[in-house]
Amino acid sequence: MENGIVFSIEEFATFDGPGIRSTVFLKGCPLRCMWCHNPEGQEFDAQYVRNPNGCLHCGRCLSSGTGELTQESVGACPRGLVRLCGETYTPRALTERLLKNASLLQAAGGGVTFSGGEPLSQPVFLKRCLDLMEGKLHRALQTSGYCEPTLFREILSRLDYVLFDLKLIDEAAHLHYTGVSNRWILENFTLLAKSRIPFVVRVPLIPGVTDTAENLTSIASLLRENGVSYAELLPYNKMAGGKYAMVGRDYTPTFDEHQAPASRPELFAAYGIDIKIL
Ligand code: SF4
Repeated sequence: MENGIVFSIEEFATFDGPGIRSTVFLKGCPLRCMWCHNPEGQEFDAQYVRNPNGCLHCGRCLSSGTGELTQESVGACPRGLVRLCGETYTPRALTERLLKNASLLQAAGGGVTFSGGEPLSQPVFLKRCLDLMEGKLHRALQTSGYCEPTLFREILSRLDYVLFDLKLIDEAAHLHYTGVSNRWILENFTLLAKSRIPFVVRVPLIPGVTDTAENLTSIASLLRENGVSYAELLPYNKMAGGKYAMVGRDYTPTFDEHQAPASRPELFAAYGIDIKIL
């Protein structure tokens, strides 16, 4: 399908690639990382969500009797806490919206970043948008790297910059904590490293999961093997569970959020990798 579903557009973002950027969050992700802090981006379809802050617990939003939030829930809530999360765009409509700020973004050394969810999960829409923006906006992708490698090559050829997440090198651990194998991810990382596309690797620091001496050493080793000398580390977001009530779910990580961190600078320095903790 050529149209895409977007759940947020953040203007003037400064952490999603070079310069100042418009970041587009595409809905849907095949991964289920235990520490995900954007649960509203996981489902592929638009969905009704409810902000729990200020809720009167009056139950009017559920008066349709189905037990689900519906279109009627939006108007029924006296506090305006229910909304539809996910808006359908044609590639042209999204491009036209983003191009309105093109000169400002270019002047600030920035552009557009596609994030998610997992933006590679809406490949037809993504490719079409990237084609329409060619030569007009600097195009970046923030990704888990999870997609079939043939598709990754096709997307890569349309990009100016990539922010690539590396989480876990051990395949069984990756499957356990994210719900998918990391085989495609590692293959795609090698493709990226061999390409001429500028990129940065980002590693989420999840206590006792990714933030262990064994895993960080494996990542550092992989980076060196692929000629990469710099990586960014993302500290665990202690508010990761904050949005789960919004989608009617509990945040139930099985890792210990208070586990001591690994000695990151030393581990990476041993492989000649500079790091920055964001
Ligand atoms: S979300 Fe709105 S309608 Fe639903 S219980 Fe809370 S206040 Fe009432």
